[in-house]
Amino acid sequence: MTKLSIKDYPLNGKRVLMRVDFNVPLNKDGSISDDSRIKASLDSIKYILGKNASLVLMSHLGKPKGGEQKEGLSLAPCATRLSKLLNCPVKMAHDCIGPEVEKEASALKPKEILLLENLRFYEAEEKPEKDPLFAKKLAALGEVYVNDAFGTAHRKHSSTYTITQYFPKKSLAGLLLEKEILNLDSCLKNPKKPFFAIIGGAKISTKIGVITNLINKVDEIFIGGGMCYTFFKAMGLSIGDSICENDQLDTVKNILKHCKEKKVALHLPEDLKIADKYSNDAQTKVIPTTQNFSSPWQGMDIGPKTIKNWSEKLATSAATVFWNGPLGVFEFSNFAEGTRQIAKAMANSQAITIVGGGDSIAAINSLKIESKFTHLSTGGGASLEYIELGTLPGIEALTDK
Ligand code: AMP
Repeated sequence: MTKLSIKDYPLNGKRVLMRVDFNVPLNKDGSISDDSRIKASLDSIKYILGKNASLVLMSHLGKPKGGEQKEGLSLAPCATRLSKLLNCPVKMAHDCIGPEVEKEASALKPKEILLLENLRFYEAEEKPEKDPLFAKKLAALGEVYVNDAFGTAHRKHSSTYTITQYFPKKSLAGLLLEKEILNLDSCLKNPKKPFFAIIGGAKISTKIGVITNLINKVDEIFIGGGMCYTFFKAMGLSIGDSICENDQLDTVKNILKHCKEKKVALHLPEDLKIADKYSNDAQTKVIPTTQNFSSPWQGMDIGPKTIKNWSEKLATSAATVFWNGPLGVFEFSNFAEGTRQIAKAMANSQAITIVGGGDSIAAINSLKIESKFTHLSTGGGASLEYIELGTLPGIEALTDK
C-alpha cells in the first residue's frame, strides 16, 4: 500500500474523524436488516479506541433527496447496533455539522465514540461545489482523518475526497480500506492463472469499462444475467421480451472481437430458463440458447446445462475467480438457481475467489457460505471502478507513505 494507514500514524490521545460505510439495508419498520457493513468497520474502530483515541464517526444512509432530512434515514439505529456490538456506549449527534456538534466532539474523552447524523441530509455531501464550507465544517470535528468506507471511495464527495485538504499529512486509510486494496491488488495486479471472471447483472452499459479492462487480464470470461441478451441479439437471435440494450449492440460486437484478438475465451450461457412474464409465478421453459423465442417469453436465468458446465470449469480449471452480478433474476426464487449454484461452485473450488457487488454477496450470505471465499468486497461499484482504473479518488486523496 502506498498510502498511510492508521497503523503508520501515532493516534494516541487524538480525536479521530473516520468516514465509515454504515449504509445498511433497512426493514420496512426502519430496523437494520443486515449489519455486515457495521461489523466490517469494527477492526478499525477497536484499533483506534485501543490507542486511547476518541472517535467521531460519519456515514451516509440511503438516498435522501436533495439533502432533505428524511425521517427513517437517521443513523440512530446504527449507533444503537454499534453500541451492542462493541458493548460500550455510542453517542448519537443530532446533526453532522454545526457548533453544537463541534462542542460534543471536542468534549469526547479517550475511547468515547460519537456518531454524526446522516451526511446526505446535506446536499453538499454528494455535491461539494454546492457548499465548499461543508467539508471544512466536518473537518473541524477531528484532528486526524481516516477513510474506512471503501464502498464510497469511488465518489468525490465532501466526506471522502474534499475533506482531505484539511488534513495534510494526516489523511489515513482504515483497516477495511487497506484490506480491500490489498485483496483486490493481489487478485488483479498479479493474478494466479488461469484467471476467470464471471460477470452478470442487468445491463452491459454499466459494466463495459470493467469488462474491457478484465479482457486484458483474464483467460476466460463468463457472461450471464440480463446482459447476455444484448449479446444474443447482436448475434442475430430472437430474444422475445428479454432485457436488451439496443444502443449497445456495437459495444458487445466489439467485446466479442476484443476477446478473439486477446485469445480470451468468452462463454455465454448455452441454455436458458425463460418465463412468460416477469414474475415468480410465471410459466417457465428451459431452452437451448440457439432457439429463437418471442414475446411474451423472456430470459430470466441461465439453464441447468450452463450451470453444470460452468461449475465444472470452476472446479477443475480456475486459479483465480472474480465474480460480479447475479446470473439471473435472483430476487425471484424460481430464477435464483443459476446465481446460487455458481456461488456454491466458487465456494467449493480451490481457486482464489473474489466477489464484488451487493447482489452476488446477498446470494452468498443467503447460502451461508461467506467463509469459503477469499474476499467479499464491501463495495460493489467501488470494486468495479477499482478494477477498471487501478485506484479510486477517495484512495488517491489520502496521504502518501
Ligand atoms: P447489476 O446491478 O447490474 O449487477 O444488476 C443486478 C440486477 O440484474 C438484479 O436485480 C437482477 O434481477 C437483474 N438481472 C439478472 N438477470 C436478469 C435477467 N435475465 N433479466 C432481467 N434482469 C436480470
